[in-house]
Amino acid sequence: MANANDSSPAEKSCFQCHRPAAPGDGRCRYCILEVEASEAFWAVIVRHFPEAKYGDLSPWRTIRQVTANVDAIEEWVRNNATPQDGDDDEA
Ligand SMILES: [Zn+2]
Repeated sequence: MANANDSSPAEKSCFQCHRPAAPGDGRCRYCILEVEASEAFWAVIVRHFPEAKYGDLSPWRTIRQVTANVDAIEEWVRNNATPQDGDDDEA
């Protein structure tokens, strides 16, 4: 009998970077964080150039920036917010 309601769902991949997707989202946690962080980043740039009327950036530059940001977020989380051997040795 076919199991139409698979109890072990196949791991979905982030449509942007192919890391494992967050539950209920098509993106991974790093791509989700990147959107929020990028909004803060561009808010600073816009604040310094109030005369700017548009926020144009080439698609290639945008893709490269997002990719670099997501990679940096993943590395930062791995290095700083993931339990490491010996982390619980502190008294
Ligand atoms: Zn992703």
